[in-house]
Amino acid sequence: MGTTVYQRVYGLDGERCCELGHHEVLRLEQLWSFFLPRSEVNELARRAGVATVKVAPDTAAIVSQARSLHEFTEGAFDITTGPVTALWRAAAARGCVPTAEELEAAHALVNGQELELTAPCDVKLRRAGQRLDLGAIGKGYAADRCIDIYRAHGIRHALIDLGGNVAVLGGKPDGSPWRVGLQFPGRVRGESFGWLEARDTSVVTSGNYERGYSFGPQRHGHVLDPRTGTPLTNSSLSVTVVDASSTLADALSTALLVMGSERAFDFAVEQGIDAVIFDQGMIRVTPGLSSSFGMS
Ligand code: ADP
Ligand code: MG
Repeated sequence: MGTTVYQRVYGLDGERCCELGHHEVLRLEQLWSFFLPRSEVNELARRAGVATVKVAPDTAAIVSQARSLHEFTEGAFDITTGPVTALWRAAAARGCVPTAEELEAAHALVNGQELELTAPCDVKLRRAGQRLDLGAIGKGYAADRCIDIYRAHGIRHALIDLGGNVAVLGGKPDGSPWRVGLQFPGRVRGESFGWLEARDTSVVTSGNYERGYSFGPQRHGHVLDPRTGTPLTNSSLSVTVVDASSTLADALSTALLVMGSERAFDFAVEQGIDAVIFDQGMIRVTPGLSSSFGMS
């Protein structure tokens, strides 16, 4: 999944759980990777506009949730951004930015409502050229599955971190809550502007500062607005979402990032989403997090 997986699992079965968690992440990666030719994501792309693909239950589940989230987030979250992402990837590899025509053609294929999910596990992309990109939700889903594994083994204290996508089971073994640092956008990795106390929940941050496509001094962030197809420009913005479901927290942190800080804050408050929004040094915390957030 293009990230480091860090697991901390307490108890006699801790080591075993870490192995099982590791295998679970690899299993999901085999299904959803852009880079593995035999992944289901690539199979769906090959059959786009032509045929239905019988997918694994995990793929059907994530597609179904993503489709509802597309609607819920007013189009800010969209897993059909694949053609645009693929274009930027290819452009970065050849070293020159995509042309306006290329961008327009790729964007014309993006439409989160064109995901067809018929029988429980039958998925089809409506038009040829369409492809999924599960980069903004897959790590959250993987974190949820790992927490399920730990719980099934009777574990009471655990933490998993997939590159900024953190999920915790219980609190720390000493009874205190886990403390998750929030990365200061643009500063060295590990430098935080604040932290959140967490227990039986997930804390996911989406930022536009770390990953992206570089063309010499020019840099384009890896998160884009699906409604326009353009990469986000605000590199000092980050959004952290706290939710018992890491899948949801992952998707929503990306969606709120796309909305921009003003709309993101209002949307979070209206919808009862727990979020910390950092924009150019200004920090806004939704009411539900006021007692668990602290400044560094
Ligand atoms: P990270 O992967 O760094 O944790 P995100 O969870 O925000 O960050 O996911 C960003 C990835 O999701 C991008 O690299 C791209 O593959 C994909 N993506 C970009 N924009 C969107 C969007 N608006 N909706 C859904 N997926 C997106
Ligand atoms: Mg995300």
